[in-house]
Amino acid sequence: MATAVYPGTFDPVTHGHLDILRRATQVFSHVVVATTEVPQKQCLFTLEERLAQLLQAVEGLPNVEVQSFSGMLVDFVRSIGASVIIRGLRETTDFEYEFQMALMNKRIAPEIETVFFVTALDYLYLSSSLVTDIALRGGDISAFVPTFVEDAIMQKLGKG
Ligand code: ADP
Repeated sequence: MATAVYPGTFDPVTHGHLDILRRATQVFSHVVVATTEVPQKQCLFTLEERLAQLLQAVEGLPNVEVQSFSGMLVDFVRSIGASVIIRGLRETTDFEYEFQMALMNKRIAPEIETVFFVTALDYLYLSSSLVTDIALRGGDISAFVPTFVEDAIMQKLGKG
C-alpha cells in the first residue's frame, strides 16, 4: 500500500487535523505528517514548535511519521517515495482552494494523487485560526485541541 503525505501548517494542530490523520492511517500503510514554513501566513507557533506539537500529538498512532520540508510539496513527496497527498475538506470555501492546489500539483507531478477526506461533522467549523481567536478572547478551547496544545496556546498568548 502507498505512503501518503498529510501536509499542512498545523498552527496549531487541532482535533480536526487528528481525525483526518487517524482515518488516513486506516487507508494508507504509512502516513507522513509534514509541515513547513509559510511565509505568506503569520503563524502563532514557529516551525520547531509546530513540529514538536505534531510529534506529541501523533504519539501512539501506528505508521505515522512527522517531518518538516522546505520548497515545493510535490518535490518533498517524491523525495520520500510517497505517491499520495492527503487533504481535508470542510466546506465549499476549502473546496475552491483545494481544487486549485490539487490541479496545480497534478500538472507539476502527474504521478502523485491528491486524496480528500471529508471532515467529521463535529469538526466542520473547526480551524486553527478560529481556535486561536477564541483563546485570545478568553473562550474555552478545550474541546478543539489536545490539552498540551491548549496549554501552549495559553502560554503563547500570555494567558497561561
Ligand atoms: P494549510 O495552511 O495547508 O491549509 P492547515 O493546517 O490549515 O494547513 O490544514 C491542513 C489540512 O487539514 C487542510 O487540507 C485543511 O483543509 C485540513 N483541515 C483543517 N482543519 C480541518 C477540520 N476541522 N476538518 C477537516 N480537515 C481539516
